[in-house]
Amino acid sequence: MMSTEKASVLICGAGLAGVSAAYFLSAREGLRDIVLVDERPPLSLTSDHSTECYRNWWPGPDAAMVDFINRSIDLLEELAGQSANVFHMNRRGYLYCSGDAKGLDNFIEQAQKVSQLGAGALRVHRGGAATAYRAAPPEGFAGQPDGADLLLDPALIEAHFPYLSKSIVAALHVRRAGWLSAQQLGTYFLNQARQNGVKVIEKRLIGVDLSGGKVERAHFQDGDSLRCESFVNAAGPFLAHVGQALGVELPVYNELHLKLAFQDSNEILDREAPLLIWSDPQILEWTDEEAEALGEDPHTRPLLELLPSGVHTRPEGSGGSRMALALWEYQTRLQEPVFPIFEDPLYPEVVVRGLARLIPGMHVYAERPPRPRLDGGYYTRTRENRPLIGRLPVEGAYVIGGLSGFGMMAACSAGELLAKTLAGAPLPGYAPAFSLERYRGPDYLKQFDQAGETGQL
Ligand SMILES: Cc1cc2nc3c(=O)[nH]c(=O)nc-3n(C[C@H](O)[C@H](O)[C@H](O)COP(=O)(O)OP(=O)(O)OC[C@H]3O[C@@H](n4cnc5c(N)ncnc54)[C@H](O)[C@@H]3O)c2cc1C
Repeated sequence: MMSTEKASVLICGAGLAGVSAAYFLSAREGLRDIVLVDERPPLSLTSDHSTECYRNWWPGPDAAMVDFINRSIDLLEELAGQSANVFHMNRRGYLYCSGDAKGLDNFIEQAQKVSQLGAGALRVHRGGAATAYRAAPPEGFAGQPDGADLLLDPALIEAHFPYLSKSIVAALHVRRAGWLSAQQLGTYFLNQARQNGVKVIEKRLIGVDLSGGKVERAHFQDGDSLRCESFVNAAGPFLAHVGQALGVELPVYNELHLKLAFQDSNEILDREAPLLIWSDPQILEWTDEEAEALGEDPHTRPLLELLPSGVHTRPEGSGGSRMALALWEYQTRLQEPVFPIFEDPLYPEVVVRGLARLIPGMHVYAERPPRPRLDGGYYTRTRENRPLIGRLPVEGAYVIGGLSGFGMMAACSAGELLAKTLAGAPLPGYAPAFSLERYRGPDYLKQFDQAGETGQL
């Protein structure tokens, strides 16, 4: 690249955020001379390690997240329709399960609140001969209900999900939800962007020159540079680092999240299951010997205590695949992004033990699940778990990040919001909720502290 060359927009980061921004800027807003730079191959960092699930079911305190993800799913459905569903979007839903009879009123109340924010009707099934509950088809996404079905009848739960624990008192089946291939979605964005003239280069960005408080030139590690009118920070876990290159502090941090893939050789998990989630905190069962060994080490001692809710699993792959994915954030690790990531050797065993509370058959893997494979990455997040999308306080600079554990499901509406902001187009109502300026309100964060629930898995 010649230092005399110029881009109208330079996007730093070719993860899902960057490629979606490139697609919406070029294909939907008609901008030209866009360059996408990444030091790695596109879609090879965080975006290659997600569980690939989506849902419109997000807590408040207001409707911003529900509206934002609903818009993203609208766009996903539109793109799936246009592309013969090249990214294999399904709509199996998320099934949140609880065995806590005492907490049932709260479980129902929380579901009602999300439904009222715009996630769709809540249909309560208390049992009896006639029920309107419709199971989700394993493939496809069209013609399905939205909102959620709340199953409160153990016989109904068992009839549809016989492999789940008999202790479950409530199962909330969220319907505008499922999973898809994140790589195929990203590749679709990238191909469409390329067809609209977006140029992709492999370089490491090391600095951005400003002139009169405005973005002027980006510098790369190999000595090259590129003049640009606008600069988009889509650097994923390195969002804050790239922010510093612009002299802007971004309020994000990184949480390590691991993911387990294992061979379900005993065929415990139904291949047509939705995403299955245990919604209660739990204490794991250990033998006296195991408990003694764990108690001796301060790092493992917390495994004897009450662990958080949220262990989840889903079948992975088609045809004769027996792969299962399983995740549980039972220990939160905040850290600088380091690659390769730290692979906790205890993770597989702890996760399958946690899963056994939801799916008792998983006990057979308590010692060690077959052929475990660990991967994962970082949830780059703000304190209140909402993204950062919009202008930065440097003329010509923008951000699309802080996408935490929802960056795949939000990729479309995030890219669209970024592109509309940059192009000066009218913005959706949720735009202010994701701008950096939101932190200017002195009481802004208090409402989230009071709500206490971020909806993160
Ligand atoms: C274990 C796990 C499970 C998840 N499950 C889900 C899920 O089920 N559903 C969902 O919606 N989301 C999920 N997520 C979240 C989702 O994967 C992320 O939010 C999303 O991938 C973030 O995309 P990104 O483009 O912001 O970041 P990335 O994909 O990390 O891309 C950032 C890019 O910027 C580049 N870059 C950074 N600095 C520079 C520089 N100086 N120069 C050049 N290039 C640079 C990097 O090389 C990288 O390619 C999950 C995440 C994890 C870790």
